[in-house]
Amino acid sequence: MKKVAIIGSGFGGLAEAIRLQSRGFDVTIFEKREKVGGRAYQLVKNGYTFDMGPSLVTAPFIIERVFEAAGKRLEDYIELQSLDPFYRIYFHDKSCMDYSGDAEKMKKEMAKFNPADAANYDKFFEDVRPIYDAVITDGLGSTPFLTWKSFLSFVPRALSLGGLTPVYAFASKYFKDERNRFAFSFHPLFIGGSPFRAPSIYIMIPYLEKAAGVWYAKGGMYSLVKAFEQVFLEIGGSVHTNAEVSEIVVEHGRAKGVVANGEFHAADAVISNGDVAFTYKNLIKPQHRKKWTDSSVDKLHITMSCFLLYIGTKKQYPQLKHHTLILSRRYKELVRDIFERKILADDFSIYLHVPSRSDASMAPHGCESMYLLVPVPHLGSGIDWHTQAGPFKERILNFLESEFGMTDLRANIEVLEMFTPLDFESQLNSHLGNAFAIEPRLSQSALFRPHNRSEDIERLYFVGAGTHPGGGVPGVLLSAEATEKCVVEDLGEFVARREAAHIRELEPA
Ligand SMILES: Cc1cc2nc3c(=O)[nH]c(=O)nc-3n(C[C@H](O)[C@H](O)[C@H](O)COP(=O)(O)OP(=O)(O)OC[C@H]3O[C@@H](n4cnc5c(N)ncnc54)[C@H](O)[C@@H]3O)c2cc1C
Repeated sequence: MKKVAIIGSGFGGLAEAIRLQSRGFDVTIFEKREKVGGRAYQLVKNGYTFDMGPSLVTAPFIIERVFEAAGKRLEDYIELQSLDPFYRIYFHDKSCMDYSGDAEKMKKEMAKFNPADAANYDKFFEDVRPIYDAVITDGLGSTPFLTWKSFLSFVPRALSLGGLTPVYAFASKYFKDERNRFAFSFHPLFIGGSPFRAPSIYIMIPYLEKAAGVWYAKGGMYSLVKAFEQVFLEIGGSVHTNAEVSEIVVEHGRAKGVVANGEFHAADAVISNGDVAFTYKNLIKPQHRKKWTDSSVDKLHITMSCFLLYIGTKKQYPQLKHHTLILSRRYKELVRDIFERKILADDFSIYLHVPSRSDASMAPHGCESMYLLVPVPHLGSGIDWHTQAGPFKERILNFLESEFGMTDLRANIEVLEMFTPLDFESQLNSHLGNAFAIEPRLSQSALFRPHNRSEDIERLYFVGAGTHPGGGVPGVLLSAEATEKCVVEDLGEFVARREAAHIRELEPA
């Protein structure tokens, strides 16, 4: 059997592991932390359960494909519950919008701000549909872009779809009110992109939500992590936790295995699900790297980070929906503060995930489990989180108490934990403490993103948010499909032999 070593157990690593183990490879995951899941980690404290990272389940059909690769069914492992609305958005002027996939409800919500915008809703989605078709239906998201030829064949289509215009500019063609513009342009922020420079390929996210819904996995996102781990173990895979990889061993330009906890593990292929920038800079000796030298890694635009608070309260707050956004007055300028000026501004926008609104098992009876996410610059900003985290937390709590009507919040807190850019760096080996890997911008998309198959080292591959197509759970699951194609192409003879043997086994004697 051919051995595959996977570094990291984020959604991308777990999906890749399932796919390759199902193809007959002998796959082992090496995970630095105590549990699998990566950014989708879980915190359980005093009866409160928190998903620490991703919270929105979108594109369940892409998740189903991972189970199907192993001959399993999603519904045998997790229960998905559809959410309506997808989000409640509170704007700075206290107006709010319940954002959903229901066209008629959405038009009513939009018409509150501008009836002409509501009238353009159908046209907007009509024009976004071909972008969605290109990325999802025609599989560009799961096709590795490795050569200029493959990339150039895609460019005319991208241009004709307007797919290179920044997301905000695309949405602004249809909608005039800033609140409606926000509602249809903020999605790149979910994967670490600026709506003002991420190409409108990413505007297919609202289409994806509308077409396939926004879901909640009962028990939280971590129940999906556990399901993937269980499937992988059931089909014979191995997982080593507390097993940090310190080196990818390379001989004559080819990956030969990994060193974890001081021990060498030979492999026919190595796949890094860790941060791409960290992997190149820290796990591979410089003499093996021609393209991804330290200085070229340093030129990559790395995404923002996040400041997170996990809060358990002995009281419920019905003004919060399962997903709630509370926005600052500033949109473009706040994004510039985070992405370009890299400063901790006086104002902030907050995303809240409150799973106890839909799932009583996430908090003690009558209590609320919530996380608050505030986008902040990555550690290249020089912000000293050792001294800033405490005061920043107090500013957020003050805001919620004095300006958002949660007047007794502090008095009801039973659990409060923080996760800062320093934790992204130390716990996840995340370059500059980024939250979403490499920024999704035109110059870092498709061919220009670190490839699924390493440009420098044979039999080394990447899966996850830093490679094609990019971040977000659907994105990293698509990256597992793209990377699987590369591995199968390179070790194809082996796969063909395995498949032929399998067919022989099924044939009657
Ligand atoms: C706060 C937050 C909220 C988000 N919300 C959403 C959402 O609602 N919906 C959505 O779709 N997406 C969301 N995302 C994005 C999504 O979570 C990520 O894109 C995705 O989970 C990343 O998965 P990944 O496969 O790239 O691996 P990661 O989750 O980044 O995991 C990488 C793993 O590699 C391990 N590792 C690193 N170095 C080593 C080493 N040397 N040895 C061994 N192990 C190593 C790490 O410990 C980690 O477990 C969110 C992200 C964040 C941070």
